[in-house]
Amino acid sequence: MPSLLDTDIKFLAGVGPQRAESLRKELGISTFGDLAYYFPYKYIDKSKFYYTTDIHSDAVSVQLKGVISDFRTEGTGHKQRLVARFTDEKGSIELIWFKGLQWVEKSVIKGKEYIIYGKPAYYNGVYNIPHPEIDDPIKVQQSGFQYKFTAQYSTSEGLKNSKITSRAIGKIVQNLWKAVTQPLPETLPQYLIQQFKLMPLTDALRAVHLPTSESQLEAARARLKFEELFYIQLNILRFKRDKMAKSRGFVFSKVGDVFNNFYSHYLPFPLTNAQKRVIKEIRADFLSGRQSNRLIQGDVGSGKTLVALMSMLIAIDNGFQTCIMSPTEILANQHFATIKEFLKDMPLKVALLTGSSTAKERRSIHAALQDGSMNILVGTHALIEDDVKFLNLGLAVIDEQHRFGVAQRAKLYAKNSVMPPHVLVMTATPIPRTLSMTLYGDLDISVIDELPPGRKPVKTIHSYDSKRLMVFKFLRDQIAEGRQVYIVYPLIEESKNFDYKDLTDGYEAITRAFPPPEYHVSVVHGRLKPDEKEYEMQRFIKGETQIMVATTVIEVGVNVPNASIMVIESAEKFGLSQLHQLRGRVGRGASQSYCILMSDYKLSSDARRRLDIMCETTDGFRISEEDLKLRGPGDMDGTQQSGTPLQLHIADLNHDGQLLMAARNAASDILDKDPGLERPENEILRTRQSVIFNKQQNWSRIS
Ligand code: ADP
Ligand code: MG
Repeated sequence: MPSLLDTDIKFLAGVGPQRAESLRKELGISTFGDLAYYFPYKYIDKSKFYYTTDIHSDAVSVQLKGVISDFRTEGTGHKQRLVARFTDEKGSIELIWFKGLQWVEKSVIKGKEYIIYGKPAYYNGVYNIPHPEIDDPIKVQQSGFQYKFTAQYSTSEGLKNSKITSRAIGKIVQNLWKAVTQPLPETLPQYLIQQFKLMPLTDALRAVHLPTSESQLEAARARLKFEELFYIQLNILRFKRDKMAKSRGFVFSKVGDVFNNFYSHYLPFPLTNAQKRVIKEIRADFLSGRQSNRLIQGDVGSGKTLVALMSMLIAIDNGFQTCIMSPTEILANQHFATIKEFLKDMPLKVALLTGSSTAKERRSIHAALQDGSMNILVGTHALIEDDVKFLNLGLAVIDEQHRFGVAQRAKLYAKNSVMPPHVLVMTATPIPRTLSMTLYGDLDISVIDELPPGRKPVKTIHSYDSKRLMVFKFLRDQIAEGRQVYIVYPLIEESKNFDYKDLTDGYEAITRAFPPPEYHVSVVHGRLKPDEKEYEMQRFIKGETQIMVATTVIEVGVNVPNASIMVIESAEKFGLSQLHQLRGRVGRGASQSYCILMSDYKLSSDARRRLDIMCETTDGFRISEEDLKLRGPGDMDGTQQSGTPLQLHIADLNHDGQLLMAARNAASDILDKDPGLERPENEILRTRQSVIFNKQQNWSRIS
């Protein structure tokens, strides 16, 4: 049965074909239903009037009643603007228009009383109101459009040009609700509505656009948020159960000689409790008979590599091959070196495969993979090239997964013809629990929430560029004590050339301030060839250079314990999680480490907040929570590539954690009782889920 909500938006009063086209193109609204689900982003109080004399801030929008007079045009050409005087009982203020000047001057009747609404601007020592909304008080009264909670809708520049403002959307939304005379089909089963005391759908949708009280608005929003989160969870959990039921995996039944020998003779330090716990969790996966996909979260320096290595040893004990894939060649080299160092003279075959491997090396690696003699293959995405074939890959580890695309990971699954290998994904970007449940709901998650003992927290200092000489002096003192220093410049994808200039200028300035023969400086950036990069890195690792000037290529994984100072140039240009990653490069040795955030005086309030947070805490989880608050979940590292269309329309993971838990538990309970959603009372769930997710085939297959 077609619902009213399926009606083409052009048939709604006040829309018509032209506006319908703009709404479709700009906002994706093509039906009544799309409009009903186009939620306001905030509400403003239009029941309250201010006087012009009340205006003391540009933070609050105001509604005023008065007359408009004295139109005059100022400036010429592009800079032309229309200015008018608005006078109420107590005083007056100027109104300014930069666009549509003629239209405004023509349509406003001088001397007539109007209601205006706008956000004051402070300019040349006085307030004015640019581009106010102007209403006729009589019409406002007739339309009843003087809500205490007037919904505000996001629009686009394109829409504003075709005069579809937030208010215009508000008006067609009113028409929509005039057209809705019957209750809309419910999208949740009655038993859930009763159990959670939810507002019925029709009431909730109406109230979210046209609320009449705060409590009603809250109840409406709660219902819609719950529903949004519930269906996401239902989808993820169904998928996960389905996968668990179907996906057979290799069973690694024993912990054998290789593991035990390593554990008792080669492990250089006791494992942390968190490492032990996570290895146990991985071991349980290996015994389950199902293919496992586990995300291991652990702050930088928490010892993920060792956990990965010990898991690989279990796979090897059971006769399988393993691989570990890194996002960059530097990291792959480092993993190779680390793993060789851990394993020392253990009789295992470990090889490195990257873009720089020679044809000869490749041939011998390929041969050892196919005859089964290769135990551990370390590498970059060179590992997933088609000609890399394993005899029996049992475990694939992916390090720093946020650098990998979904498609690349999918290729790993196909490396085995018999069954996909177990997959461990390691990330140093701590993701808040609420987000990981939503994003990675189908992956099992382990958290290494403990750093190895004896680490001193890195001292973090914010310094302005003008204090550079003092910072240099500090660096000289530290270098004199034998320490090494990283100096990092931002590298933004779209503007490589510009940033490259920043880096080379910086490098020159640094070599001038730290001249040979006393000082030696390495430089590493994306334009170097892999062997040049490696050469520069090695000089630093060996201590031949005291300073490493770099772009963010050193962001992940580099381990030089003697490097105890991280200077981040233009720190305001980095996101929080990136700053945290960079800071994680230091604090790995015995001496006190420092992170110095350099910035300009001029900082946006968000940038200042980021730098403050960095100075306040070294706790990765706290930082990622703050990051989520500042940037919103859509921007989080890792989400862009995760392949998850995490587009929440009304729920907010910062504030709706409890609702999320409730929704997840509800979905899980339902699936326990009715895994296929086959009971009559759940039919509504099955249909709705497929309506919401039918276009998004299989996205949750891989993290
Ligand atoms: P990340 O989790 O950032 O990948 P790594 O695996 O590189 O961290 O470990 C960071 C450092 O800590 C390495 O030098 C590693 O050898 C060391 N390490 C790992 N586990 C322990 C432990 N249990 N005790 C002491 N040091 C450890
Ligand atoms: Mg690491």
